[in-house]
Amino acid sequence: MNRIAIVGASAGGLSTAEALRRTGYQGTITLVGDEPEMPYDRPPLSKQLLAGQWTPSRLALRSEADIEALGLDLRLGVPATALDLARRVVTLADDTPVPYDTLIIATGVRARRLPGTDGVAGVHTLRSLPDALTLKDRLVPGRHLVIVGAGFVGAEVAATARGLGVRVTLLESGPVPLALAVGEEAGRFLTSLHQQHGVDIRTGATVTGIARTAAGAVSGIQLADGALVPADDVLVAIGSTPNTEWLSGSGLAGRDGVSCDEYCAVADGVYAVGDVARWYNPLFGAEMRVEHRTNAAEQALAVARNLVAPQARRPFAPVPYFWSDQYGTRIQAYGCLRDHDEAVVIEADPNGRTFLVAYRKDDRLVGVLATGKTPKTLRPWRARITARAPWTAALNHPTAA
Ligand SMILES: Cc1cc2nc3c(=O)[nH]c(=O)nc-3n(C[C@H](O)[C@H](O)[C@H](O)COP(=O)(O)OP(=O)(O)OC[C@H]3O[C@@H](n4cnc5c(N)ncnc54)[C@H](O)[C@@H]3O)c2cc1C
Repeated sequence: MNRIAIVGASAGGLSTAEALRRTGYQGTITLVGDEPEMPYDRPPLSKQLLAGQWTPSRLALRSEADIEALGLDLRLGVPATALDLARRVVTLADDTPVPYDTLIIATGVRARRLPGTDGVAGVHTLRSLPDALTLKDRLVPGRHLVIVGAGFVGAEVAATARGLGVRVTLLESGPVPLALAVGEEAGRFLTSLHQQHGVDIRTGATVTGIARTAAGAVSGIQLADGALVPADDVLVAIGSTPNTEWLSGSGLAGRDGVSCDEYCAVADGVYAVGDVARWYNPLFGAEMRVEHRTNAAEQALAVARNLVAPQARRPFAPVPYFWSDQYGTRIQAYGCLRDHDEAVVIEADPNGRTFLVAYRKDDRLVGVLATGKTPKTLRPWRARITARAPWTAALNHPTAA
């Protein structure tokens, strides 16, 4: 195993390279990324960068000196376009072949687009640094931003834009924003947080088209009920699509990401990490694909360890964690909140700052979401999820309040 190729040079890819070096791997690591920038972090794109609190240089995942010290064969600004599994060769867009003994797929996801809006001035998505810089220039007081999709990216941009004095309308097709991701109870709590800060939230809103100015820029969003919501800018935040096109022909591009076993192995000598990886998590007995920053780093570490010490390899069985910052409130969650059978509000203080909801699947505690809590307060909850605690016992635990 003397040549490792990592495709995707962001959180997952770079963390894998670092972990390999930390665990003693001294062979060649080729790190391929289609973005020209040195690897940078995405969570601040919708928060500190958009708010103008941080400059782009602060988003760097590592300093150039730290990256230099890893001794990588770094190929930035050039996408991988094909994979020949039998010959173990990745081909880049400039036709360069990258032969490997082991391949790590870390190509993440991209923002889904609204059909018919490609190239329309004023219609944005948010996944990359250029996306964020373009949107940032448009967020000036008094302008009207319409956000299509009230998931976490949409909700965070709404919060940042309100902080900048921008009028915000948030369109959600379901009855409760974020309900799919975190359930109705937490969704309602977060909705009220946005309403308190002056966001106009429209639920049950199905977008049927966009209106344009004479010059062709967006001027509004057309809804199925006939309403036209005027807009100076539109952010489309309707989820993501895994970047697997370059794998077509290899048989590895799955329906929703790249399918892996519990060791994150995709095929002989091929592994996947980060947002693109759909793997079997034995702790929950389920396949999952997790689009969270911490997961990308943890999965990278797990894969690197298993590669360097295959005789001691261990399944990747984490309790997924994510955080989101909105209006100065930190929302944190552990576990699997989707597809739960029941969500119980354990704590909801009347001033709306702290909130805690626990999630049940079958007879087990599978997740917890909280606002206004320190990591220390949530640690016992995480421990109970890891221990597969029975639901009733978990809720009656002395630290459960
Ligand atoms: C605006 C925003 C805010 C976020 N906020 C939070 C948050 O608060 N908390 C949280 O937990 N998570 C957050 N996330 C999610 C977090 O950023 C991701 O989970 C993390 O970036 C995943 O890392 P990754 O390396 O797997 O994928 P990515 O970061 O998507 O990196 C994949 C890289 O591969 C590149 N690539 C794609 N195709 C190819 C190809 N064919 N060849 C070469 N390179 C390719 C991509 O361009 C990209 O550089 C946020 C994401 C966004 C966009």
